[in-house]
Amino acid sequence: MYRYYVKSQKITMELPFSESYKIKMVEPIRKSTKEERRRWIKEAGYNMFNLKSEHVFIDLLTDSGTGAMSDRQWAAMMMGDESYAGATSFYNLKRTVKKLLGFEYMLPTHQGRAAENVLFSALISEGDVIPGNTHFDTTKGHIEFRKATAIDCTIDEAFDTTVQHPFKGNIDLNKLESVYLKYPKAHIPAIIVTVTCNSAGGQPVSMENLREVYELSKKYGIRVIFDSARFAENAYFIKTREEGYAHKSIKEIVAKMFTYADGMTMSSKKDAIVNMGGFIALREEALYKKAAQFNIIFEGYITYGGMSGRDMNALAQGLDEGTEFDYLETRIKQVAYLGQKLKEYGVPVQEPFGGHAIFVDAKRFLPHLPEGQFVAQTLAVELYLEAGVRSVEIGTLLADRDPITRENRYPKLELLRLAIPRRVYTNNHMDVIAAALKNVYDRREEIKSGYKIIDEAPILRHFTVQLAPSHEETIGLLGP
Ligand SMILES: *Cc1c(COP(=O)(O)O)cnc(C)c1O
Repeated sequence: MYRYYVKSQKITMELPFSESYKIKMVEPIRKSTKEERRRWIKEAGYNMFNLKSEHVFIDLLTDSGTGAMSDRQWAAMMMGDESYAGATSFYNLKRTVKKLLGFEYMLPTHQGRAAENVLFSALISEGDVIPGNTHFDTTKGHIEFRKATAIDCTIDEAFDTTVQHPFKGNIDLNKLESVYLKYPKAHIPAIIVTVTCNSAGGQPVSMENLREVYELSKKYGIRVIFDSARFAENAYFIKTREEGYAHKSIKEIVAKMFTYADGMTMSSKKDAIVNMGGFIALREEALYKKAAQFNIIFEGYITYGGMSGRDMNALAQGLDEGTEFDYLETRIKQVAYLGQKLKEYGVPVQEPFGGHAIFVDAKRFLPHLPEGQFVAQTLAVELYLEAGVRSVEIGTLLADRDPITRENRYPKLELLRLAIPRRVYTNNHMDVIAAALKNVYDRREEIKSGYKIIDEAPILRHFTVQLAPSHEETIGLLGP
C-alpha cells in the first residue's frame, strides 16, 4: 500500500494521510439491536425523517448543520454582539463576505431556504422560468410555489453514474441557450447555478463552465445567481481537477468563482460549518433594497435577519476556516475513503465521488424492484435495519409529483445518499457504514419488494411521508 524508497541505506515510509485537527470534545452514541430498529422504523412510517436521533447509531441523513464547530468558532460566539441593529457581529460577517466572496450587499437569513424565500420574493413572478443545473429541492419548491418553472440544463453525463467526468455539475450551454431563445428575457429573472450540484450527487462545476455560463447569460441580459451551499468544496475540486488551478489557494479560487455571479444564496449549514444560518449576497443595490424589505417581513431586521449575533460571528469564522485547503482535504478525502471502500466491495456508487456524500445507485443495487416501489427508500430502510445507519433517499420520493398532472415524477437517478457531517465521524465509522452496506448488498436478492405511500403532503412530501411495505394490505389514506 505504501511506497518505500531507499535513502542512504535507510528505508523511509511515506506517511499516510490523517486529519488536520484533533478532538477536544466528544458526544456518546449508542448502538441498538435489529429488533429495536425494526420497531422504530415501522413506528416512523419507514421515513428516515421521523426517526428519533437517539435511535440512530451513525447519522448520514444530511451534512447540513450537523458539523462540529472549531474552538475558534466557539470563541467567536462568546464575542457575539446581540444588539438589535448595527451589531458588530453583522459587520464582521459583512466584511468577511466582501473579503472572501466580493459582494457589496449582504442580508443574513436563518438558513438557506429562507435566503431563497426572501430573494425569490423580490425576483420571481408567476410564469417565469429559471434554468439551472438540477435545482435543489427547496430551491425548486420556492420556484414552483411562485408558479414558476425550474428547467434543468445539466450536462447529460451527470445522469449516468458509471461515466467518469470531473465536473458533472456543469451546465450544458446548448440547453441553456435554447431556454434563453425560447422564453422572453422578462420571464427569465435569473439562472441558478448550484455549486456543488447537490441533487446531481455533490458534483462540481468547473471554472470554465462558470465563466461560459456567465458570458452566455450576459449576452442575453440574464442575471446569474449561485446557490452556494458547497462553494468551498467546489473550489477544492477546481484546484485538484481543473488545469491551471493546482497552485492557487482555495480562497483565490473562491474569489474568482464569484466574479461569475451577480448574487448568491447561501445555506451556511454546509460549507460555513455552523449549525444554523444563511445569507443572501448581491452586487445590485436596487435588488438588495427590494430583498431587504422581504427580509424584514420574513426574517428580521436587516442586520440580523433571523440570526443571533453570536451565530453571525461563528459563521464569519466558519467561512474563513471552510475555505482552508487542509480542512477541505481532510473532509473530501474522508468522503472518498468511504466511496473507495464501497467500490472495493462491489457496491454500485456514483463516480467520481462527490464532495459531501457518497451516492449509491439504487437501481443498480436492487435492479429487480419495480420503479413505483421507491427503490432507494427501500435501500435506506435496509441499511438502517442492518446497522442503525441513517441515510436518505434522493429519488422518486424527493422528486415529488408533477405540480400540474399530480403524477409521480421518476427522476433519471434513483440514489441513496450517505452524507458525511463535517469533522464529526472518524474513518472507523466509515468502515462500519461500508461493511453494513456490503452485508445488505450480499443479501440483495432476498429484498423482494419495496414500499408504498399511505399518506403524503402536497409539497416537499419526503419530509413527512408515511410508508408501508408494498406487499402489506393497508387501509386508505392515499395521497392526491
Ligand atoms: C441545503 C441547501 C439549500 C437549503 O438550505 P437550508 O439551510 O437547508 O434551508 C439550498 N440549496 C442547496 C444546494 C443546499 O444544499
